[in-house]
Amino acid sequence: MVHFTCDLCGKDLTMCTDGRFVVKIEAYPGFDPTEIKEDDLEDDSMEAVSQVLQREGALSSDELSSTLHRGFRFDLCPACHRKFVNDPLGKEAIRSFDFSKN
Ligand SMILES: [Zn+2]
Repeated sequence: MVHFTCDLCGKDLTMCTDGRFVVKIEAYPGFDPTEIKEDDLEDDSMEAVSQVLQREGALSSDELSSTLHRGFRFDLCPACHRKFVNDPLGKEAIRSFDFSKN
């Protein structure tokens, strides 16, 4: 039997009658990370290009985009799902964490 637990609170979802919610998140650059901008090619072009190459290391563009393209999948119980859709980026949690430091 496949065993599911809530990725947020750890609740066992295998016997949960309320159901299980799946959250998928994708994160990837909204720009082309391999593109060398015109600015990079001005006066000190050699220096700029070598900086770009250092920044990207020996990665090919395929490897680079797979590094920058991250997919996440979470199983959530109904209660955590409700919390997630109300605050997908956890802004409230971050804010209350900041306040609790005082
Ligand atoms: Zn949960």
